[in-house]
Amino acid sequence: MISFQQVDKHYGEFHVLKNIELEIDQGEVVVVIGPSGSGKSTLLRCINRLEAITSGSLTVNQVQVNDSKTDINKLRRDIGMVFQHFNLYPHMKVIDNITLAPMKVLGISKSEAQQTAMYYLEKVGIEDKADRFPSQLSGGQQQRVAIARGLAMKPQIMLFDEPTSALDPEMVGEVLDVMKTLATEGMTMVVVTHEMGFAKEVADRVVFMDKGEIQEVAHPHEFFSNPREERARLFLNRVL
Ligand code: ADP
Ligand code: MG
Repeated sequence: MISFQQVDKHYGEFHVLKNIELEIDQGEVVVVIGPSGSGKSTLLRCINRLEAITSGSLTVNQVQVNDSKTDINKLRRDIGMVFQHFNLYPHMKVIDNITLAPMKVLGISKSEAQQTAMYYLEKVGIEDKADRFPSQLSGGQQQRVAIARGLAMKPQIMLFDEPTSALDPEMVGEVLDVMKTLATEGMTMVVVTHEMGFAKEVADRVVFMDKGEIQEVAHPHEFFSNPREERARLFLNRVL
């Protein structure tokens, strides 16, 4: 479903992604880990073309992401993204945050969009917060709104960039639980996280990045019990 072949990316002189090779199947949950600055966010952001690659081939459902003929809006409709800092619209109620894109982008009627929004709010466990503003919610609740907002577009792929890193520790679990449910239901997910417990429990594969390179791709059981690469070993010693 997502295919990186010999992908390189530079920020000016800086070589941020180096010869990335990665194939992600439909329904797979891939967790990307690695030190800060290793290129994890950049890798994720290339998938929905928030960043352009410099060379190589990157396809989503066989469509070249960086081809000028590619319908970027269609591509992004199929790919939901959840960020560290939620990025909700502060001046809009929770329900309006969720209905905005389905109405504007998909042309769905207000009543249908609201129905869909309530379905996903219920799914993430905060249907009672529909008429609140984001600032009236806890961080964990805001992040669950952000996930519901992503899901309301009925995407084929969900990207998560450190979705729990900005949360107080007691709220991390409620967000990870929502993500676990999504994974169980077969959503294709690429998740950048420092939550090693989540990686162990939920990932089909773990991708370890360092200095712009994929150093190791392995099943979590294998990776956490016996990482092949020295740098992965050092990283795990620091974070576990
Ligand atoms: P990670 O998510 O693993 O911390 P990033 O993908 O955010 O890593 O960044 C990788 C490297 O690229 C870092 O050294 C960062 O400073 C650099 N970088 C990220 N975004 C930009 C940008 N827009 N312009 C220049 N350098 C960038
Ligand atoms: Mg990052």
